[in-house]
Amino acid sequence: MESNLQSDWVARSLRSVWHPCTQMQHHETVPLIPVKHGRGAWLYDHEGRRYLDAISSWWVNLFGHANPRINAALKEQLDTLEHAMLAGFTHEPVIELSERLAALTGHKLGHAFYASDGASAVEIALKMSFHSWRNKGRSGKQEFVCLKGSYHGETIGALAVTDVALFKDAYGPLLRATQTVMSPDARQAAEGETAQDVARRAAADVERLFNERGDKIAAIIIEPLVQCATGMAMHDPIYLQLVRALCDQHSVHLILDEIAVGCGRTGTFFACEQAGIWPDFLCLSKGISGGYLPLSLVLSRDEIYQAFYSADVTRGFLHSHSYTGNPLACRAALATLDIFEQDNVLEANKLRAARLTKALEPLANHARIKNARKQGMIWAFDAIDAGPTFSRRYFAEATRQELLLRPIGPTIYLMPPYILDDGEIDGLAARTLSVFEATLAGAEA
Ligand SMILES: *Cc1c(COP(=O)(O)O)cnc(C)c1O
Repeated sequence: MESNLQSDWVARSLRSVWHPCTQMQHHETVPLIPVKHGRGAWLYDHEGRRYLDAISSWWVNLFGHANPRINAALKEQLDTLEHAMLAGFTHEPVIELSERLAALTGHKLGHAFYASDGASAVEIALKMSFHSWRNKGRSGKQEFVCLKGSYHGETIGALAVTDVALFKDAYGPLLRATQTVMSPDARQAAEGETAQDVARRAAADVERLFNERGDKIAAIIIEPLVQCATGMAMHDPIYLQLVRALCDQHSVHLILDEIAVGCGRTGTFFACEQAGIWPDFLCLSKGISGGYLPLSLVLSRDEIYQAFYSADVTRGFLHSHSYTGNPLACRAALATLDIFEQDNVLEANKLRAARLTKALEPLANHARIKNARKQGMIWAFDAIDAGPTFSRRYFAEATRQELLLRPIGPTIYLMPPYILDDGEIDGLAARTLSVFEATLAGAEA
């Protein structure tokens, strides 16, 4: 009876829901899992099977599903104010959130502009950069620079600064031309080269481009410390220091996309803190609402804000979304920031990370694994000779072993919520390895 229910949900979903980032025909063989409810790090289906959410439901869920503290904050907000437009009106949750985020940047980035998803935050940063140059009389600065292997979202503007062929190629004719520079990915180190050497080589590529056409470039956009969507490519923080200096020298804005790496994911609240620099624009989304509601924002410097401040309406930033600064989403974000403070999460994560790193040693040392790497609460491993269907086969096997884990190509990665207890950490490491071995064995069979 229960099992019929589960297959009913699957059939109905496949008939009427067009799932994201999915070739729908693959669901003829790949399982679709209807989630009935969630609690903590676990998702439960209609048959009572559970799945350990090792990738925080696409990197958004920081403190578990159905978190009691975030739930309580939202229930209270729901009975107070669900939404009000943010043009001509304001409200407590959006004010408080903006103030607290500004304080977290040491008031370097004191102006918060809101949207709902990550790609929209990227669009906003690109438009603000271009428009602020224009307001300063430098309308020739119209180009954007991104890194090889970059991912900044999939709307038309964000896709233009994304360098992932699978997402981009089909839409090439719709996109603005972008300058692409070398990635500082430390895996490219030649014999005898360090991660810092690679970072310096990559920064030299930025310098070459800025020397060539800095006067035409509005901004460079970078995902600091870890380029997540292309397979957790990690780099040395010195890269960010060098690029910050080049941006200052050549009057180019630095946009840091912390949509995935922000909110404590790399070990500090903002990834750029590890380089000791601040960008001109910082994009946040994903974890900021604890994984509860769509919320994104762009934090910017006072100098940017001042470039728009004028009696002339057309010099203003005339961009909006219907749900800009939604009070429920802001309340979820405030509850999330409360948990960071009350539970001293960044410190507690160091202990969790150390235990998980240790537990993952057998996988890191596996004969079919290379480039084992980690940064804060991100772990990644590249499977050797994985084959083209590795990711799908791993995902399917993982679900059989009560694990939600979707590799990116040959890269197995973990981005768990910040709530795992010791048993869950050890179980996660053991399953990640046993699923890998079963996936390899399946390919040979
Ligand atoms: C997820 C992501 C985005 C896009 O966010 P959406 O909410 O999916 O539009 C942009 N940049 C980075 C680095 C991301 O990880």
